[in-house]
Amino acid sequence: MYVGVLVELSNKNIDKVFTYSLPHSLKEKVSIGVRVKVPFGRQTLEGFVVSFINDVSIETKDILEVIDDEPVLNEELLTLGKIMQEKTLATLISCYQVMLPKALKAKNGTVVNKKFDTFYKLGEIPDKLNDNCKKIISLFDKEDLVLKSEIEKISSSSLKTLEKKGALIKEKKEHYRTLLDIKIEPKKELKPDQKNAYEEFINSDDEVYLLHGVTGSGKTEVYMEMIENTLNKGKKAIVLVPEISLTPQTIKRFSKRFGSKIALLHSALSDGERYDEWRKINRGEVDIVIGARSALFAPIKNLGLIVIDEEHSTSYKQDDASPRYDAIEMAKERIKLNKGAKLVLGSATPTLDTYARALKGVYHLLKLPNRANNQKLPIVRLIDMNGEIRRNKGHFSKILLEKIEEKINNNEQVILLLNRRGYSSFVTCKNCGEAIKCPNCDITLTYHKTSNNLRCHYCGYGTNKPIECPSCHEKSLNDLGVGTEKIEEELKELLPNARILRMDFDTTSRKGMHEKMITEFGEHKYDILLGTQIVSKGLDFKDVTLVGVINADTSLNIPNFRSSEQTFSLLSQVAGRSGRSEKSGEVLIQTFNPTHYAIKCVETHDYIKFFNEEMNIRKRLGYPPYYFICYIRINCKNENDGYKESLKIKRLLEKYLDKTVILGPSVSGVFKVNNIYRYGITLKYKKQDNLYEILNKIIDVYKSNHLVTIDINFNPIVFG
Ligand code: ADP
Ligand code: ZN
Repeated sequence: MYVGVLVELSNKNIDKVFTYSLPHSLKEKVSIGVRVKVPFGRQTLEGFVVSFINDVSIETKDILEVIDDEPVLNEELLTLGKIMQEKTLATLISCYQVMLPKALKAKNGTVVNKKFDTFYKLGEIPDKLNDNCKKIISLFDKEDLVLKSEIEKISSSSLKTLEKKGALIKEKKEHYRTLLDIKIEPKKELKPDQKNAYEEFINSDDEVYLLHGVTGSGKTEVYMEMIENTLNKGKKAIVLVPEISLTPQTIKRFSKRFGSKIALLHSALSDGERYDEWRKINRGEVDIVIGARSALFAPIKNLGLIVIDEEHSTSYKQDDASPRYDAIEMAKERIKLNKGAKLVLGSATPTLDTYARALKGVYHLLKLPNRANNQKLPIVRLIDMNGEIRRNKGHFSKILLEKIEEKINNNEQVILLLNRRGYSSFVTCKNCGEAIKCPNCDITLTYHKTSNNLRCHYCGYGTNKPIECPSCHEKSLNDLGVGTEKIEEELKELLPNARILRMDFDTTSRKGMHEKMITEFGEHKYDILLGTQIVSKGLDFKDVTLVGVINADTSLNIPNFRSSEQTFSLLSQVAGRSGRSEKSGEVLIQTFNPTHYAIKCVETHDYIKFFNEEMNIRKRLGYPPYYFICYIRINCKNENDGYKESLKIKRLLEKYLDKTVILGPSVSGVFKVNNIYRYGITLKYKKQDNLYEILNKIIDVYKSNHLVTIDINFNPIVFG
C-alpha cells in the first residue's frame, strides 16, 4: 500500500505530492488528511496524506511516523484548499496550513499537548473498610466518576490502598481548556423589520444574502434567528466577525442564546486553548463556530450557514502573507460544497463590490433601515477645523469639549476616535527636518511614548529615542503627529475630573486587557473611552450618547483608491456607537474637509448617496467593482536587479495579456522592508481568460530564480 504525501520544500516555496510506502505497522493509523513525517533527502519533513495509491512502479521510502490520531483536514477542506490554491496562486500546502490552528501547523510540528483530567470510578468494593475509605466510597453515590482532585482532599494514602485492592479504577479524560459558562436567557422577540428580513431569508433558496442594516438595527438578533433555524434543521453554522469586534459583549450575546454549543476561535486564545476549541469542532461536539477570518476553515461538518458580520472589514482579506485569500470569496466556495448551505454578509456600510452585486441581484438584498429600539440614528454634526486651528492650538474644538463636559455632567458616556489610519506619531528633527527612519525599511519609525522608544511597524526593529538627530547631530528632535497618548494627556489637562480610558494596540496587547477595558467601561467606571479604530466596531454601551471624532481626514489622504470608502465606513461605524439604547445619541466630527462627499454622507447617514458618488469615480478611473485588480510584487535584495527583472516581467505580460491595463513597475507602497526592495506591477482587467495561465508561468520561472521572488495579490487592500 502506498500514499501520496504533500510536502513543502520550504526554501523554494514549491509544493509537490510524493509517493511513500506505508509500513504494515502504520496501516491502521493512516487516513486521508492526517499529517505524517517522511524522509526527504537527508531531512525529515512533515506533510499531509492526500491520496492512497495501489501500485507504483518507482522505488519508494517508508513513512516514518503518523502525527495525528484523527485527520486534521477532512475531504471538504482538502477540496477547498485546492480551490484556494487556484484562486490565489499560492502553494497548496500554504493553503492547507492556513486552515489549521497555529498549534497544528505542519511547519511547527505538534507543540501543544492535550490536557487530561484524572477520574476514578468504582470497582469491586471490599467488605472491610476504614472510615476514610468509606468516606471516599460515599462520594460515588451521586456520580459514577469522581475527579481525582476532589478525592485527594480526603486522603491520598487511602486512595492508593483502594486502587490497589481494585475498589477504585483510574481513568483519564481529555480536558478542554476553554469553557463558556453563561446561562441561557430567553431570546428577544424580533421587531417587524427584523422579522421580514428573517422570513424572506428562510423562504428563499438563494445562496448568498446581503443583510444591509443601519448601525443598531439589530443585525445580530437576525443572525441568531437564522442560526437557530439552521440548527433546527440539524445543520451547523460558522460566524465570522472582525478580530477587534470579537469582544466579550459579542461572545456573551451568542452564549446567552446558544449556551455551550459554541466554539470560539480568536487570537486572544493561547495555542492550547485554540487547539482545544478546534478539537471540539473536529469531533462534532459544537454546533456553532465564532471566530475571525480563518475560522472559516473550522472542520465543522454538515454546514448549513455562514454569517460574515461587518463584511466591509478589510480583515477578511489576508493581504500581507501568502495565501492572499479573501474569506468572502472562500465562503462562497465553501457553501457550494455543502448542498443547501447559505451565506449571509452583513453590514451597515457594505463594500462597493458587495452592494453592487446586491443591486444586480447576484446577492439577495435584505434591508433593516431603522434601529431596533425605535431610536433615531444619532444626529451628526461636522465641525470645520479650518477656523478652529487658528483659535486654539490643541486638538479639541470648543464645541466638542463643551459637549463632552455636558454629557459627563449628565452621567452619560463618551467615545472618542482618533483616526490613525495613514497617520501615526513619528520623530523629526527641528533643525534639518529629517524624520527618523527604520534602517531596514523605507518607513518612518513610530514613536511610543510610554516606553520612550521608536519601533518599525513593518519589521519590528526597535530603538530608544535618540537624544540627537542621527543626520545633523543637533539635539533638536521633536515628536510630530498625534498618538492616543498625546490626546489623552491633552484631555486630562482640559478635563481634569474626567475618568479617561485609553484603548489602542499598545494598551490592549496584554492578554485579557481588551476584555477588561470593555467590561469596565460597560460598568461605567470611566466617562470617556478614547481609542483608535479599535473603538469603532461591535461595541454596544447603553450610556454612550456622544461619539467624537478628533480627526476625520487622515484616512482620506492615504494613497489608495479605497480611501474614501474606508473613511466613510469607519466614521459611520463609530457614529453608530452613539445612542444605541433609550437615550438618543449625538456625533461630532472634526474635519478639515467638511464638504467632501465621504464626510457629508456620514452627516446625513446616506449610504446610497455615498455609493452612487463613489461608483461614478470608480467607473471613471477604472477601479473595482468595474475592473478587477491584481498586484504583482517583485522582491529583490538588489535595487537594480529588482528593477530589471520587473521590466522583464512587464514585457512578458504585455506580450500575452491583450485585454489588460498594465501599470508600473513602480516602487511599492513601502519600497524597502527588511532590506529587501519591492517593486509593483498593477494589472487592471475585466476579462482576461489566459491571466492565470500566464501568471502561473511567471511563478514557475521565478521559482528557480535566486535573485528575485514574486508575490501575487488579487484584489489587494494595500499596494505594498
Ligand atoms: P447591529 O448589529 O445591527 O448594530 P445589534 O444587533 O447590536 O445591532 O442591536 C442593537 C441593540 O438593539 C442591541 O442593544 C440589541 O440588544 C437591541 N435589539 C436588537 N434587536 C432587538 C429586539 N428585537 N428587541 C429588543 N432589542 C433589540
Ligand atoms: Zn523596519
